[in-house]
Amino acid sequence: MTQLRYNRRVAFQWRPKLGQHFLASKSFRRRIIEALGLRADDLVIEIGPGRGAMTALLAERVKQVVAIELDPTLVEVLKRQFQGGNVEILAGDILTTNLADLSRRHGEERCFVFGNLPYYITSPIIHHLFEFAPWIRGMALLVQREVAERLTARPGSRDYGYLSVLAQFYSEPRLAFVVPPGAFVPPPKVQSALVDFRMRAKFPDWAPDDQARFLEFVKCCFAQKRKNLLNNLTAIFARAHIVQTLAGHHLPPSVRAEEIGVEQLAGLWQALV
Ligand code: SAM
Repeated sequence: MTQLRYNRRVAFQWRPKLGQHFLASKSFRRRIIEALGLRADDLVIEIGPGRGAMTALLAERVKQVVAIELDPTLVEVLKRQFQGGNVEILAGDILTTNLADLSRRHGEERCFVFGNLPYYITSPIIHHLFEFAPWIRGMALLVQREVAERLTARPGSRDYGYLSVLAQFYSEPRLAFVVPPGAFVPPPKVQSALVDFRMRAKFPDWAPDDQARFLEFVKCCFAQKRKNLLNNLTAIFARAHIVQTLAGHHLPPSVRAEEIGVEQLAGLWQALV
């Protein structure tokens, strides 16, 4: 049975607006830590350590943990709790944190990113993290199950969309397991899931500018769900050019972006521009 006892000794004001759902289940904390594939010499960047539920377990296994927390009350508690060890607590917003600078400051080229994410900004965090993909060796995020399914969806599935392409452009994401609401205090309204991202760029030779331009193109492909690819793309290319390019890729004019994998989207983009 899931263990729900949790350290309540620390006086603490719960801030639901910051997406605070603390991982209270010892068995799930252990399952998660074991699923991360950490290395003893890793620098781990933890997003939103909260009350340190995972921070202590991370610190036991790796060389250095840098934990970034937005809530100043929690920052004070964490700083006292982790004084003098291999954990650095930073007061700040993950969305404005430069992971490359942070890694360099610790003498590392790349870091491992872990976070039980505040769900109100899941998508901006994921976009922000992938901007630092070359500096990330590995990554595992606890997200809403619905987001986990979108991140890992394959072409043809109803969950496949821009977020799937983004994740699969930079990594091989895998839904490791589902975590029920009862594992958290207070419990969220939705199920959660751990997604493990094996960082592997699909097109490692592409310049950063091309990567950004391709992702803008992908956004346009999925812009309006009820429209097919051709109709979405007429916002940026001439209709005849699109029809001809689709035909060159053995795709009918009625094809939808949801049916096309990352490699083929990349081929279409290169032929269109
Ligand atoms: N890691 C803890 C755990 O598993 O029990 C807490 C996870 S809780 C879902 C999310 C944490 O992220 C909270 O501690 C919250 O204060 C923090 N947070 C919210 N927005 C943040 C932001 N923009 N940058 C950094 N931390 C943030």
